[in-house]
Amino acid sequence: MPALPKAKIVIISGPSGCGKTTLHKALLASPALKGKLVKTISATTRQKRPGERHGREYLFLSPQSFEEKIKKGYFLEWQKVFDHYYGTPKKRAQALINKGTNVLLCIDVNGAKAVAGEFPGRALRIFIKPPSMKVLAHRLKARGSESRETLKKRLNVARREMREAVNYDHVIVNGDLKKALGQLKKIVCSEVLGVSGSGGRSLSRGTAT
Ligand code: 5GP
Repeated sequence: MPALPKAKIVIISGPSGCGKTTLHKALLASPALKGKLVKTISATTRQKRPGERHGREYLFLSPQSFEEKIKKGYFLEWQKVFDHYYGTPKKRAQALINKGTNVLLCIDVNGAKAVAGEFPGRALRIFIKPPSMKVLAHRLKARGSESRETLKKRLNVARREMREAVNYDHVIVNGDLKKALGQLKKIVCSEVLGVSGSGGRSLSRGTAT
């Protein structure tokens, strides 16, 4: 029997409000990647935002249930971000990887480090940056889901996270959504599928603006 192809683990990180949710959803919907890249659903203890559904955006758990799962080794990695737990369930991710299916994780910078350490040579790390902190603050305010205090917290964490971008294989500056999506598709198609996405040449490693 031919050996299963080695699955890649695509990790997308970036500060809250950088547009990574919109970007990863559009990436998954692109015909070239349909069925070839599967996102795992993370668990979190934060409150649901309007429009979010249990089992779709996240598994929304109580802190007690999350902590029990930590003890049972349920997570591939977990972190406390903005005073809430976030974690990648291990079983589903591992089953996909064992089958040779490429996996997409949208996780914070510390989770990204942990996963890349767990799967050396298999992780493709992509960092999404806002064009500026001013734009990021504006986007977070416009989202309207944050209190003044959590907004301030998210901006402080964002500053810290941005310094981690140097450890990523690629950095995409999301000033223009269409352009950023094109860059993201090209990187993933070329590095995961080994083909040039949307017919263009693949990007070299580094920052795409
Ligand atoms: P949000 O609350 O805006 O959905 O996510 C907050 C942060 O948690 C984001 O940086 C997001 O990437 C990160 N995050 C979401 N799921 C996970 C996860 O399973 N593990 C880790 N380490 N971070 C996560």
